Amino acid sequence: MMIDTHTHFGRHGEWDCPLSALIGLMDAHHIDKAVTGWLGSNELGASGFEDALKMIRDYGNRLRLMLWINPAVPGDADRTERMLHRYGDRIACMKVHPQTAQVPLGDASYEPYLQLCGAYGLTLAVHTEPGRFSSVERLAAMAVRHPEVNFIAVHMELRSDHSHAMSFIAEQPNLFGDTTFVPASDVRIAIDRCGAEKIVFGSDAPIMSERYGATIEKLQSMLSPQERQQVFQSNAIRLFQLGSNV
Ligand SMILES: [Zn+2]
Repeated sequence: MMIDTHTHFGRHGEWDCPLSALIGLMDAHHIDKAVTGWLGSNELGASGFEDALKMIRDYGNRLRLMLWINPAVPGDADRTERMLHRYGDRIACMKVHPQTAQVPLGDASYEPYLQLCGAYGLTLAVHTEPGRFSSVERLAAMAVRHPEVNFIAVHMELRSDHSHAMSFIAEQPNLFGDTTFVPASDVRIAIDRCGAEKIVFGSDAPIMSERYGATIEKLQSMLSPQERQQVFQSNAIRLFQLGSNV
């Protein structure tokens, strides 16, 4: 069983990610399941969730949706709660991109969402990169304040050598790292520093699709069989509500 915990479909700016491209990549590279987010949700927040759910309905349990939130959209936290109430069993995690939402991590507007993550046992996956919106330092501070919620630092800080992110992930029990756009050699270092139980496989597929197969192969070649099982399967099952219907 191989699981990709960070994929997309739809359009946003220069990114065009047809659902067929995502499924084609999964088929070609033996990915059994993926957690995915509709790029339209970037602006819409939770109000895009029901449309996104319809778009993936033909794929059954092969695709699980992120509930992509946007605290800058008025009423988004209330809509998020309604979506959780109605579709809880279809939601793999909550996700936010603080940079595109223009809401820095640590802002008070995240609090209602964190309460909901705690109540529904959902992980919050967060785009991270250095700077005032999405740094892992800010995310780690949220993780300290909310020990009942698991947090994933997607990219372990994009556009960095990832060592800063690793130091927080190693330290904070409910903070995890994902491999999206992280070179395999840095994933190896992250596992040595943080433990294989703290790192999950993610890719942003089908963005950079031409490198998907090579990225998976290189990463697998650098992991022991047990680490592979953790990074590509068991950590994802644990962190993304994939325990049933897997
Ligand atoms: Zn992404």
